[in-house]
Amino acid sequence: MRALVWHGINRLSVDNVPDPQILQPTDAIVRITSTAICGSDLHLVDGYVPTMVPGDILGHEFMGEVVEVGHEVRRIKVGDRVIVPFPISCGHCWYCEHSLTSLCDNSNPNAKLAEALWGYSPAGIYGYSHLTGGYSGGQAQFARTPFADANLFRVPSELSDEQVLFLTDVLPTGYMAAENCRIQPGDVVAVWGCGPVGQFTIRSAFLLGAERVIAIDRFPERLELASRAGAEPINYAHTNVFEALKLMTGGRGPDSVVDAVGMEAHGTGPGGIYDAVKQTTRSLETERPHALRAAIQACRKGGTVSVAGVYGGFSDKMPLGAYMNKALTMHTGQTHVHRYLERLTEHILRGEIDPTQIITHTLSLEEAPRGYQLFKHKQDSCVKVVLRP
Ligand code: NAD
Ligand code: ZN
Repeated sequence: MRALVWHGINRLSVDNVPDPQILQPTDAIVRITSTAICGSDLHLVDGYVPTMVPGDILGHEFMGEVVEVGHEVRRIKVGDRVIVPFPISCGHCWYCEHSLTSLCDNSNPNAKLAEALWGYSPAGIYGYSHLTGGYSGGQAQFARTPFADANLFRVPSELSDEQVLFLTDVLPTGYMAAENCRIQPGDVVAVWGCGPVGQFTIRSAFLLGAERVIAIDRFPERLELASRAGAEPINYAHTNVFEALKLMTGGRGPDSVVDAVGMEAHGTGPGGIYDAVKQTTRSLETERPHALRAAIQACRKGGTVSVAGVYGGFSDKMPLGAYMNKALTMHTGQTHVHRYLERLTEHILRGEIDPTQIITHTLSLEEAPRGYQLFKHKQDSCVKVVLRP
């Protein structure tokens, strides 16, 4: 089959690779019809996540048709049209039973390696390095999906791929980021980052009852997309965000703040995990504002900090003094995608959220390397790239 393969930092190509096989009786094979490029993929391309190995297949936002199932798969059948949440759930460990599927204890075959390096093990994630299990990703024609009964979800036939694809990640991620704000009537929510995750955070914050949402980014077209959802934009390239937020909230600051940025590379530096550590530190000291730090400083006293942006390694110079003395509460995590699927599908069916709004580019799988360039450098007004294998 054809697949998008990681060959090193900023080195990607579409190659011929072996077709995936059923390895466990609970596996299924999915023929992929649509798959997307995520901000998290950029961290891998930039070399910010260790234990990528040349030859790894990227991609964790994908859907398609089930073409083969192992002999212990019961709920899912060949021919089902399914979406595949990015964190892999075993369906029966303590975490999965508590709907904390992105913390699953059984889906990462490299858990021991992760524990040795980090002291904890993340759940398995498709196409997301060997510390999350080394699973081949979904920017490919086919993918092996473990624990198929717990991880594949049939989608209503009246909804197009474009309407349901983002249920695999960025839509529930934005929703969980907003839910983590614990929004009360009248609340003002400020969102750093207007990429796909930020866009869905903004829309979800309104669904969850926010009175006002303030959107912060430097790309006018992303701010414009946020405005169309009702958010009030601030371009941090031209405006002092801290001062602007004070002015907009009667001097108090937003009730909750969301980091939908993470360890963005800003397109600078050679990349690499050690560079990421330096970058995070450096960005606190130069003109590049560090989104999480800025968010903590801007949040009103007693407010909530919701971190959807992905971090790895160490992030120095966090304003812990402000965090503690302002009595802030932080909620974060990789998204527990599974627990949001039913309610978000309902929102889509009722037309209350339109996931297709963020799609700016639909490309073939062969064009994936170009898709990464467009998305990474935000060229051609790119917000989200969908690939059709
Ligand atoms: P993206 O790169 O398209 O969006 C990031 C946006 O942040 C860009 O528009 C960029 O201009 C903006 N930005 C950069 N620095 C900023 C700053 N200092 N202030 C304000 N805005 C700034 O990526 P995305 O797909 O939207 O993903 C965003 C983050 O969410 C990434 O870190 C990604 O890894 C993470 N993510 C987390 C989960 C999860 O489960 N928690 C899931 C998916 C993605
Ligand atoms: Zn993603």
